[in-house]
Amino acid sequence: ESASAANFIRNQLRDELESGQGASIVTRFPPEPNGFLHVGHAKSICLNFGLAEQFGGVCHLRFDDTNPEKEEQVYIDAIKEDIQWLGFEWGGDVRFASDYFDTLYEWAQHLVREGKAYVDDLNAEQMREYRGTLTEPGKPSPHRERSVEENLDLLDRMRKGEFAEGEKSLRAKIDMAAPNINLRDPVLYRIRHARHHQTGDAWKIYPSYDFTHGQSDALEGVTHSICTLEFEDHRPLYEWFLANLPVPNTPRQIEFARLNLNYTVTSKRKLKLLVDQNIVDGWDDPRMPTISGMRRRGYTPASIRKFCDMIGVARAASVVDIHMLYHAIRSDLEDNAPRAMCVMKPLKVVLTNWDADREEVFEVPGHPARDDMGMRKLPMTKTLWIDQDDFMEEPPKKFFRLAPGKEVRLRNTYIIRCDEVIKNDAGDVVELHCSVDYDTLGKNPEDRKVKGVIHWVSETHGVPIEVRNYDNLFQVESPDKDKDIDFLEHLNPDSLEVCQAIGEPALAEARAEDRFQFERVGYFCADRYALDEGKRVFNRTVSLKDGWAK
Ligand code: ATP
Ligand code: MG
Ligand code: MG
Repeated sequence: ESASAANFIRNQLRDELESGQGASIVTRFPPEPNGFLHVGHAKSICLNFGLAEQFGGVCHLRFDDTNPEKEEQVYIDAIKEDIQWLGFEWGGDVRFASDYFDTLYEWAQHLVREGKAYVDDLNAEQMREYRGTLTEPGKPSPHRERSVEENLDLLDRMRKGEFAEGEKSLRAKIDMAAPNINLRDPVLYRIRHARHHQTGDAWKIYPSYDFTHGQSDALEGVTHSICTLEFEDHRPLYEWFLANLPVPNTPRQIEFARLNLNYTVTSKRKLKLLVDQNIVDGWDDPRMPTISGMRRRGYTPASIRKFCDMIGVARAASVVDIHMLYHAIRSDLEDNAPRAMCVMKPLKVVLTNWDADREEVFEVPGHPARDDMGMRKLPMTKTLWIDQDDFMEEPPKKFFRLAPGKEVRLRNTYIIRCDEVIKNDAGDVVELHCSVDYDTLGKNPEDRKVKGVIHWVSETHGVPIEVRNYDNLFQVESPDKDKDIDFLEHLNPDSLEVCQAIGEPALAEARAEDRFQFERVGYFCADRYALDEGKRVFNRTVSLKDGWAK
């Protein structure tokens, strides 16, 4: 069993609490509601909510909603559902950065009054030019020295919608020569004549991420503001705002390395493209690395939390092998999923020495190690289905399944021998005639060795089901590594195979999201939505063993 990996933030917090610095912790998870959450967000969720759980603190859920054009209520609803499904509870009500728009505006006026912010007329492109580069200092905007009165007036008129988008912006007045470009007079407010999902038409200007994030943390009493490494360069600015505004509390920003997973893209923008171009069937398509996609695929909350524990938290960027994720779900389902037999590609077997109306019912455990799962009934009849892959007309040497003249054990029952192969006019094998050795129930014959065991389902009692075998969406390890190649060129054309399969009778009772091990095949989950549509659909979560990326 894999132990949990190192988590430097957890260690740091433990040290702080033990040494008496700070009494309790408040963290936050701050998604922007512009898409569904993905497995990378799960890492951040497990970290932020996990620390609060572990140290008796709270974790807030705060929507970072400063880009109204890209945000939607459906994303807010989906994000809340995903966090709850993972088993976490946020402290207090759901919060929105937009709850603080009034305060942020007052604080912007405060900076103007202090001579620390000004209204600029440069457009985005000019501003980029004036800001300089890593090797070249920036130069001041011609509007940098406006008076406080003029700035207050212009800011007020920006708010009222008197200017067009892009015509003006509010900038902090810090240092155009600062080595850190984030300190070269960053934008605090931009004009956006957009309706906001929370505040409606109240605002014509919206605060930037940088001007919003740390102040929201401060207003909420957040103690540790944990974010990904891209924000390391923003930390001086985060601290500048806290130092220059009348904030009630001083949170600390701590950065960690984001999760990168091979064979996967974890960028909301790219995932949205897959959805918008109908390459997948929505954000929760079981091939998507979204939390809702993983849920539909059959991942359990425990497996995702365990995976996050296994990968640990560090500052060094790395790429995690997707097999760690497969391992996490496999070991959960190995212990917790009941067993069933299911024939993926049916081939008919007629038992020649079995009476036409004879029926024998075998009772077998629901799970080999879990008495609490009870017994299940396997009825056997004259005509059965086996998997096409378990028969070969001309088998290679080490093929221990069925072949002409060869024997195999039907799982939980007798050994049968293939006596005759029936073909159609096209030469395809359509039926096998086999004879049963009635002296082999629960024991092996003494005169010969029969190695193979295959699964089967009664033709009379089998339940038709649709099985969706999912595979990686991308066929290369780093689909978005090369900036010159469109990541869509790396799509795996075989990421979905649909089989009309036949399962054992117990599968007729499966409810949405019930999980099974289909013996000898893999782990499968009853689709969340199909039953409502009157269909019996099972999604392959993961194969039984680690083949290539399955
Ligand atoms: P994306 O790049 O996919 O759009 P984002 O960071 O813009 O992601 P947010 O909604 O802002 O998305 O993310 C909410 C939180 O989740 C942030 O604190 C962010 O740092 C964290 N997060 C996002 N992606 C990852 C990842 N791959 N690994 C760890 N944490 C992540
Ligand atoms: Mg973000
Ligand atoms: Mg983003």
